[in-house]
Amino acid sequence: MTPGGGPAEPGRGRTIAELAEVPVDRVKRIGEKRAEALRELGIETVADLLMYYPRRYLDRTRQSDVADVGVGEEAVIVAEVVSTRYRRTQRGRALVELEVDDQSGRLRVVFFKQLPAGTQAMFFGKLDTYRGKRQLTNPVVDLIGNRTGRIVPIYPTTEASGIAGWEYGEWIEEALKRASPIGDPVPGRYLADLGMAARGDALSGIHHPESFEEKGAARRRLAFDELLRLQLEVVMRRQESERDARGIRHAVEPADGEPNLVRDFKRRLAFELTKAQEQAIAEIDRDLAGPLPMHRLLQGDVGSGKTVVAACALLTGIQGGYQGAFMAPTEVLAEQHFFGLRALLGALEMPDQERLGGTRPVAVALLTSRTGARERARVYEELVGGSIDLVVGTHALLTGEVRFSSLGVVVIDEQHRFGVEQRAALRSKGRGESGDGSDPDVLVMTATPIPRTAAMVVFGDLDMTLLDELPSGRTPVRTIWSRTDRGDAEIWEHVRSEVAAGNRAFVVCPLVDGSERVEARSATAEMLRLSQTALSGLAVGLLHGQMKASEKEPVMSAFRSGEIQVLVATTVIEVGVDVPEATVMVIEDADRFGIAQLHQLRGRVGRSDRPSWCYLLSRNDSPEAAMRLGAMESSTDGFELAEVDLEVRGEGTILGSRQKGRSDLKLATLRPADRRLVVDARNVAESILAEDPYLERHTDLADELRLFLGEEAAFLRKG
Ligand code: ADP
Ligand code: MG
Repeated sequence: MTPGGGPAEPGRGRTIAELAEVPVDRVKRIGEKRAEALRELGIETVADLLMYYPRRYLDRTRQSDVADVGVGEEAVIVAEVVSTRYRRTQRGRALVELEVDDQSGRLRVVFFKQLPAGTQAMFFGKLDTYRGKRQLTNPVVDLIGNRTGRIVPIYPTTEASGIAGWEYGEWIEEALKRASPIGDPVPGRYLADLGMAARGDALSGIHHPESFEEKGAARRRLAFDELLRLQLEVVMRRQESERDARGIRHAVEPADGEPNLVRDFKRRLAFELTKAQEQAIAEIDRDLAGPLPMHRLLQGDVGSGKTVVAACALLTGIQGGYQGAFMAPTEVLAEQHFFGLRALLGALEMPDQERLGGTRPVAVALLTSRTGARERARVYEELVGGSIDLVVGTHALLTGEVRFSSLGVVVIDEQHRFGVEQRAALRSKGRGESGDGSDPDVLVMTATPIPRTAAMVVFGDLDMTLLDELPSGRTPVRTIWSRTDRGDAEIWEHVRSEVAAGNRAFVVCPLVDGSERVEARSATAEMLRLSQTALSGLAVGLLHGQMKASEKEPVMSAFRSGEIQVLVATTVIEVGVDVPEATVMVIEDADRFGIAQLHQLRGRVGRSDRPSWCYLLSRNDSPEAAMRLGAMESSTDGFELAEVDLEVRGEGTILGSRQKGRSDLKLATLRPADRRLVVDARNVAESILAEDPYLERHTDLADELRLFLGEEAAFLRKG
């Protein structure tokens, strides 16, 4: 099975990377047609086949005799097909009716696929009756073939592939036999410490376990391997970024007479910083002052005041003569941050010999794909000339035309929508192209918290700071899910009474599939509908993503001043909008939003000491919707909600921005149940790389990383 067909190197065993060189049709009984169908499923090599894991397992000791199964019971039955008959349903669908026999009795099985008489098969399902006769309808069917063993793996199958579950079992058994011994890329002492099965044992244990304990141990080992690859990747990326890094030692405490923008900024704030903010700023200051560039993640709940912390970091750079860049994932967010930061920083003064009075205001610019050609040219020129201190923007900041004179601090908001590559691209703008060739310090922020385990995977190459405290004087927002017309009517009444008391309300329109334009149109219609019905007589305004910044700004300021009392909006208000008088948030069709988004939206109210409410309108009480909306009703803690979100939606959304490659998790999850494994994988990765930073002495691991990461594994190359 080696490429040359010869035996494995003695004492070493075959590696996954070697098996990834062996085409799948080298396995007995996989002919050209089967190989083609497998290729369609992404299974091209023996390694792919071995990593095609069972979806679940049936316990044959739970097998029942046909005669003993009661109606309504779930059962595993092993029986022989005695006859097959085609039938059409009243709707014209073709059905197969099988008569099966297990010596104890006979049963009818209704199924959509033909099984010839004489076939031995296992049927798993719930017994029901049809016209007085006992039957299994659409059971899980698995052909036993000549397999033995008490636990039967059930492989994921698709109708289109035409491959039956049991065929995988046979092929994999054959492949494992011929491929053994399978080597282990992880040094034995780590495995011994963690009580982990060997790789080869784990592969056979996941495919044909003798016991459920064996299956559990196999899963644990293989899930660990997936996480170990990810952790090796993030730790190596981190090492690489520090290897020949040239950081800037920022002047955290400027000498007397030097500009001290951070101090001026803090003095101007209308509030005291929270303890958590002070601590975060101190941690960031240590990074900024240090010789290595900062790579830090700032996690904090909605409203915990991340912007102020980011502003301090940016100002530390600016006061020392460096430039700052602030990147947000959407134009709307970038615009909001631009207006917000300009308001916060624009009043601060920088020394400037060329000006009368010797000072000039801190210069903040905006750059998105919507920025007009002339303005864009000006921004490019002034960035490279050094007269812009801070640029706020979107991906537009990453283009080649953007050059800095001396980029010192980078802040990236909502990083999980950006990939690692984009972070690196922005960071590299500090070097080579411009300035003194140093690496800027990078601060990454999340809009809402993500769970710790997930953060270790997705942001594993970053140090972490938590803002685990909200500014005082906030009253928790009361959240109520309304499922009835009557409930809705009361909510609109409540909006009217809050407005009458001088407060303001948001109404978030349903998410509409399709373009932003479709969504804008539907928001406009909803605004008109509400102002003619439930909210008639109130000053109702409209805000959506199709409006230009110059159109949005007057709406926002009218809402701030109270000229507009109710703001009907799309999710453009999701992040950043800050109006302390807003006390009611109504979210229509709330079930269409994810937890993180709902939590963000809710964060737009409760920003003062007035009591606030969040109303979730939805008739959908499917279990999934109920879980999300129920969680919103019972918790206002973003960290807690993040765990629920992970539980409901899985890791897909968190890993979404990662390269969709073979590094995807198949067995491991980012759920709390696997947290221990994530931590173990992290520790092993760090320990291995501490001794062998380029995996030169762990060549099998290095080969595996190359296999799974492809081009992305460039960091494996030395120097
Ligand atoms: P987020 O962490 O969600 O980005 P923001 O940075 O937008 O939060 O801050 C939320 C609001 O709280 C803003 O209006 C900000 O001015 C205010 N704020 C920030 N820090 C404090 C504080 N220490 N005390 C009172 N208000 C604060
Ligand atoms: Mg924010």
